[in-house]
This record gives sequence, structure tokens and C-alpha cells, in this order.
Amino acid sequence: MIGVCILGATGSIGDSTLDVVARHLDDYRVVALTANTQVDKMLKLCQRFKPDYAVMASTQAAELLEQQLKESAIATKVISGVDGLEYVAALPEVDYVMAAIVGAAGLVPTLAAARAGKRVLLANKEALVMSGKLFMDEVHHSGAELLPIDSEHNAIFQSMPVDFSRGLAETGVRRILLTASGGPFRTKTLDQLQNVTPEQAIAHPNWVMGRKISVDSASMMNKGLELIEACWLFDAKPDQVQVVVHPESIIHSMVEYVDGSVISQMGNPDMRIPIAHAMAWPQRMDSGDKGMNIFEVAQLNFEKPDEQRFPCLRLAREAIEAGGTSPAALNAANEVAVDAFLDNRLPFLAIPKVIEQTLEQRTNRVADSLDVIFDEDKQARVLAAQLVSQLS
Ligand code: NAD
Ligand code: MG
Repeated sequence: MIGVCILGATGSIGDSTLDVVARHLDDYRVVALTANTQVDKMLKLCQRFKPDYAVMASTQAAELLEQQLKESAIATKVISGVDGLEYVAALPEVDYVMAAIVGAAGLVPTLAAARAGKRVLLANKEALVMSGKLFMDEVHHSGAELLPIDSEHNAIFQSMPVDFSRGLAETGVRRILLTASGGPFRTKTLDQLQNVTPEQAIAHPNWVMGRKISVDSASMMNKGLELIEACWLFDAKPDQVQVVVHPESIIHSMVEYVDGSVISQMGNPDMRIPIAHAMAWPQRMDSGDKGMNIFEVAQLNFEKPDEQRFPCLRLAREAIEAGGTSPAALNAANEVAVDAFLDNRLPFLAIPKVIEQTLEQRTNRVADSLDVIFDEDKQARVLAAQLVSQLS
């Protein structure tokens, strides 16, 4: 039996992961589930999957859950806080850790899983964006297996030569074509983008996802974060990654080789596919997806990204090119700006402004320790919050 820990079990990726796990209970056992504050949902998951541990981010939520589990006579042990998250991510009985907490909050436990040499199923792209080299060094040092869950990176992984870790040039890879749906605002003019609402932004045409990543998809910061993620995962230079807008979300990304061959992975936009792939790898297993109807798909379209309307893509490229703590600052400012937008405190078009000005107002540093990265994260959040109040 493979022991599984799901960080962020109550979210959208958590749902899809548990759906896949539930199809293979002879092979996988849920050892630990974690959530922020959703006690009711966690209670239901504990009743269904009987994990050894449930971790709630807040102590108050943990106390409530503990009481309710006792009433339901379920033996799941409840712990709380970041220490609890780190603890379950590194348990000896855990083999695979699904890193599906949203945002910077996922960095510490995801890093703990990498340090403990687990198979890390990485959905939490913000963790890698923030800590880049530090994270990859931990993976190489501990021998952890890092498997991308982000659909594009999972597709790239599937399309790469098996020995890609020897280097892209050495293994005949010319470039990566990172696909983007273009989000709900792909065809909107700058003028129309001025008054878009959070409800419009989170209504993604192809994917059902959490609120934060949905806004990131609408602003194309999601693709910016994914560009940085691809650079670290595949040791690629930013100019080796070409973003391609592909509105159907059927091709999930492509790898172009020096002989001109282009290999891609296709499938329905269903996160259970990359999740099942990464859990079963190098084997295959049923994900629950019914398969693609190619006749219904009928057409695949491709467009160049428009950085005039979607400047977040440029900001992310500049941040990875600048290196150091710039990607951490970019991520922090984005989290603050997206929160403010979701709260109706900031217009949509001010999101890139907050990020750009935050990046300009700080000094880049070498990202050689977690302390420096968290300090950058904190400072960028303060700067971004000030900018939000000026720009709202
Ligand atoms: P979500 O908002 O649906 O779920 C987030 C999860 O994180 C929840 O379980 C929540 O309880 C937990 N969480 C939030 N804040 C926390 C905190 N401070 N401490 C501890 N736990 C906390 O988000 P999601 O859509 O499932 O996305 C999760 C991650 O996966 C993100 O990094 C996202 O970019 C990435 N991702 C998601 C998708 C998708 O289809 N949803 C696709 C690719 C990548
Ligand atoms: Mg993605």
C-alpha cells in the first residue's frame, strides 16, 4: 500500500486527488489530510477516508474538528498549524505528498516533503516560484521524486525525453511550447477589461479551479508563474519557453526537438488525468476520465499571447530573468493584489500595476536561504498592500 498525504485536501485539486484515490483503494491509503479552516468538509473526508491524521491550519478549527470526530467515533488524530503540516508531510508512513495548498502558505510543508525524500506531486506552483533553486536543491539532495501536477508541466514531463535531467541541449530538446487557454477574458479589449468583476474572472471557460488560480488565469499571471515553474522543473532558460494561447485546452503543452519533431500530450481538461499519471508513474491507471471525443474537439487553434492586455506575463518573465528574490516578490505582490481584487478593493487592470510597482520599489537579493525568501515575501506584501490602497 502506498501512503498518501494530501496538503490542501478540501480544495479543487484535493477533490480531484481524492476522486482518483477512491478508485484505487487497494493500492493507496490516505494517511493524512490537511485544510485551512473548512471543518465541515474535513469531517466528511475523515468519515469517508479514515486518515490517521487531519491537520487544520488554525487551532480553533482543529479543536472544532476534534470534537466532531469524537462525536462520530472516528479515531483520526487532529493537529494544527504549520508544524502540523510539516509533520504529516514527512511521516515515514507517507510515500506520496500531494502539494495542493494554494499560495505561499504551501511552501514550508512542500519543502518538508521534498526534504524527506517523498514523491512530491506538485500542484502548488507558488512554492516553486518562490524558492526555485533552493527547492530543486532539496529535491536533488534528498532523492525526492518531483512530479508535476500542473496540467501543462505534466504534459511537458510526458513529452520530454526520459533522461531530460541530463540537460535540454544534451537530450535534443530545442524548446518548450507552454500552452495557455487565454482565460475568460481572452477576447476582451483593454477598455472592456476595466470593469470586469471577480465573478466574471473566476468563470473559467475550460477548467473548474480555486478562486485564486482562476483570477491568475484571467490576468495570465498563471501562465507567468507557470513559465517560472517550467524553468525550474526542466532546467530551461526563459527564452526556451514559448507561451502559446490555445483556447480549447486539449493540447496541454508541447516539446520541440532539434530535429523539428514536436511531441505533445492531449486530453480533456480534467485534472484527474495529470494526477493519476503522476501517482501511477511510470505505470498508468484509470483516472475516471471517459476519454477525449476527437470529433467533438474538431478544431485546435493557436494564438500569440498579447502582453499589452496581459502584462503579467511580461512581469513574470522579467522576474525570472532578474533571478534572486524577484520571483518571490512577484508572487507575494500578486497574492495581495488578487485578494484585493476578489474583495472588490482593486480593479482588475490594477493587478499588474501593483505587481510592477512592488518589484520596482525593492532591491533584488540572492535567494540563498528560506529566511531571505520569507523576508522578501513579507516586505513585498507590505509594499503591495500600500499600493493597493493607492490604486483602489
Ligand atoms: P483551492 O483554493 O480550491 O484549495 C486550496 C487548498 O489549500 C484548500 O484545501 C485550503 O483549505 C488550503 N489552504 C488555503 N490556505 C491555506 C493556509 N494558509 N494554510 C493551509 N492550508 C491552506 O485551490 P486549488 O485550485 O485546489 O489550487 C491549489 C494549488 O494547485 C494552487 O497552487 C494552484 O495554483 C494549483 N493548481 C490548481 C489547478 C486546478 O485545476 N485547481 C491546476 C493546476 C495547479
Ligand atoms: Mg496549469
